[in-house]
Formats: sequence, structure tokens, C-alpha cells
Amino acid sequence: MKIDIEITAVFQTPFNVGTGALANIATNRPTIKDGRQQAIIPGSSYKGRLRHTCERLLRTLQQTDSAVCQPPVANRMCPLHEAWLGEFCPVCQLFGSPLRHSPLKFSDLHWQESAEAGVLTDIRTGVSIRRSRRVAEPQRLYDQEVFGPLPETIFSGTITGHLPDEAGQPLAALLLAGLRQLHTVGGGQTGGLGHCRFTARIKIDNRPQGNKWYEEGLKQWLATK
Ligand SMILES: [Zn+2]
Repeated sequence: MKIDIEITAVFQTPFNVGTGALANIATNRPTIKDGRQQAIIPGSSYKGRLRHTCERLLRTLQQTDSAVCQPPVANRMCPLHEAWLGEFCPVCQLFGSPLRHSPLKFSDLHWQESAEAGVLTDIRTGVSIRRSRRVAEPQRLYDQEVFGPLPETIFSGTITGHLPDEAGQPLAALLLAGLRQLHTVGGGQTGGLGHCRFTARIKIDNRPQGNKWYEEGLKQWLATK
């Protein structure tokens, strides 16, 4: 079945999505931007967070840790289990694994520009805390660029692709449930950044589906317990 999800992320606090490489060598941590110098949320950065919320949800729905595989432990990674369709756990079926690409494409999220918006970037000074000693050290101060006006900044994008007909509804419902539970993106280790809420609209084979379809799909995970 063909899946088209329009997602909207509303940020209540500014965020920073840095590149891992830069963060280690520069005192300034810029947030990633597109060709127009507007901040974006790369698909890869919310996809990872979303995978975690889906894993947590499925373990809760099925009341067992083995509802999903447990990378990076080699003998706990997919393919594991005969009961799993194609021998991959539901989360690997949605998000992929080292042995299997995700059937879905997670687009970058782009800012829904508004006419009233003023200057959106700002520099914040953060402090790294050395965990072992729980103290801040002067040489660990850094500046990072953050993006987002208050009270809210809206970003949008899409998740599209195909899921197997027989398992598409519960898998897509799990994905939507995971989105609803995703509350931070682009926060890094700095408290207070990147608080957001996601909403989604889904079409299956080009037909919009509502709450009833979503709830039916989610219930199927309970039935397999
Ligand atoms: Zn897996």
C-alpha cells in the first residue's frame, strides 16, 4: 500500500541541529541550513528520534522488551524471529536496519515561513557538564546557534513510501503514534531547546484516513500479544 504522510512540527522553543563533525572541532555550533540559508531539520535527525519513540511504544503495547530488536548487540538484532514478517521486527520494517533499507522516505522538514517573522537565529552559550563530576568547567563553554521565534515556529515535511498490504495499517498506525509521542528534536544535550509537538495527516493509496483507521491499526498490536 502507498503511504503519504504530511507532518507538521510546531516548535515551542528554539532548536539547534548541528552536524556531528563540526561540534567536535568548533566552538560555534551552527544549525544546519538549506540553500536559502533557512534552518532545516534533516530527515535523518527526526527519523532517529522517531525510531526510539516507536520502539518504546511497541514494547509498552506488547508488554515485552522483545517486541523489537535491540541493536547494537549482534545476536539481538534483526532478523531474529520467525513470527516477524520477513524476519524483521516491526521497527526495522519501518525504519530499516543494516541489512534492509527503510521502505519509507523521511523528508527534511522546512520552515513554514510567515510574513511577520523577524530575526530567527540567535546565539546561546551552553555549558558541557562533565558527567563524572557533575561540574561545569570554563573551557567547556561553547556558543551554539539556535533557530526559532517565540512563541512558535512551524516546520513541515513528508514521510512517503510503500508498506506491505497485510501489515501496512498496524505499521503506519505505529508510526503515527510514535510521531505523537515525539516531543524534542534538535535539543542535543542542552536543556530547554527543541521542544516540539508533531501532527500528521495520512493518505493510504491516495485516500485520507482518520482516527478510526489509526485506532484500528494500533489495536492490532495488542491482539498479537
Ligand atoms: Zn529489528
